[in-house]
Amino acid sequence: MSRTATVRLADGTTVSVSEPDWCTGQHEDDLDLVDLSHDGADTVFLVDTERGPAQLFHAVVTQAPYSTHVEEHRTNVAVHLDNDYYRFRDVAALYTLADQIAEHAVQLRQLARHLDEIHHHGQ
Ligand SMILES: [Zn+2]
Repeated sequence: MSRTATVRLADGTTVSVSEPDWCTGQHEDDLDLVDLSHDGADTVFLVDTERGPAQLFHAVVTQAPYSTHVEEHRTNVAVHLDNDYYRFRDVAALYTLADQIAEHAVQLRQLARHLDEIHHHGQ
């Protein structure tokens, strides 16, 4: 059974839109229809630091079905990196990002081994 959401637009009218299953159902009011987006739950990637949790990045499944940019009609994952959202429209591109993050983890482990050597050999 499909869900619908009612959204109040900037021009004072309301519109009923069909909801994808993954949408949280939370939509901003007072936007133009072209700016309406469906958004899934935000996935936040945290790491523990000596000052508490720190966010590396966060990502959300999203779609803007009425956007003037046709590519926004396609469901994608928006990843918030370096103070901006980057769209990953293809599954392969998202896997590539995951692979790159895994490569960074390998480099970080190399730094950990280097620090361990420094600690044990007194420099
Ligand atoms: Zn929605």
